[in-house]
Amino acid sequence: MEINLISDTVTKPSHEMLQQMFRARVGDDVYKQDPSVNELEEAVAGLFGKEAGLFFPSGTMANQTAIKLHTQPGDELICDKWAHVYNYEGGGAAFNSGVSCRLIDGDRGMITAQQVRDAINPPDFYHSPLTSLVCIENTTNKGGGACYDLQTLRDIKEVCTQNNLKYHLDGARLWNALVAKRQHPRQFGELFDTVSICFSKGLGAPVGSVLVGSKADMNRALRIRKVLGGGMRQAGYLAAAGMYALQHNVGRLEEDHRRAKQLGQLLSQLPWVKSVEPVETNILIFSVRDGYSEAAVIEKLKQKSIFISSMGQGKLRIVTHLDYKEVMHQYVVETLSRFTL
Ligand SMILES: *Cc1c(COP(=O)(O)O)cnc(C)c1O
Repeated sequence: MEINLISDTVTKPSHEMLQQMFRARVGDDVYKQDPSVNELEEAVAGLFGKEAGLFFPSGTMANQTAIKLHTQPGDELICDKWAHVYNYEGGGAAFNSGVSCRLIDGDRGMITAQQVRDAINPPDFYHSPLTSLVCIENTTNKGGGACYDLQTLRDIKEVCTQNNLKYHLDGARLWNALVAKRQHPRQFGELFDTVSICFSKGLGAPVGSVLVGSKADMNRALRIRKVLGGGMRQAGYLAAAGMYALQHNVGRLEEDHRRAKQLGQLLSQLPWVKSVEPVETNILIFSVRDGYSEAAVIEKLKQKSIFISSMGQGKLRIVTHLDYKEVMHQYVVETLSRFTL
């Protein structure tokens, strides 16, 4: 039994999900004639109270499309220094949109309204790039699954409105935040111009993201997606997996959070662990004491068939997910309790 805790993207579609994919009604989505894709786009848009949605093969493409949608070449976007849009999308903001990133030194990947206000370049000072977009990540990835309070997001929204900035949410793991904080997608739809969400993280689908926004924005996003090579034909087979995930796999994220918290508590009592960052959702980040190496931890756990990943600088990461079952959890708890370096 191999226990892979490197990411929540390692899940494989369940038998039931595959059945729903096999049964999908499909058509050519480039002509907007795929009923399963249309249905998913409408369902997600409806959840967020937005006019329209657009299906994407990846969260990266959905985010990159949003950035292109909201900026002109030479502009600057504001995001946390750990943001996925800056760190893990291959420099796409610069490559696709000719946009630079103004990085904020946030708290576990989360930024504040005051920090955003301070980072805006005066629009009449033509020497500086024009600030045009704020990107928020919720939950934060590198920040260890932290989630925002709605009030902070409302305060940032106010700064955006006052300064004529667009507001995008990278919600790859928004489902985890919704469950952990008992929030509703509509509360995010109200605030943001666009929201991207993923089905291929905690929700267990093999592929798929949706971007939601106004009808006019999604019409423009359709052209951008085409340019990026994201127009797919019988994509309904993939959309069906997303629909299955939406219907069956959101509520159970609670279990992933519970297990991550249990592991966090356990680790904080072990002599070789220096610190454990607060666990709010399904991501657990901890660091080893000076004199111990992360590589050694990874290697020794691997010998017990448990796979976790390194984040550098003495930090390690565990991510719980749909395919991490209770029996595996019991085994990991036992193994860690007796684990010595
Ligand atoms: C995974 C992830 C994405 C999208 O990644 P893809 O691999 O392109 O689907 C975007 N933002 C965050 C925060 C993520 O964790």
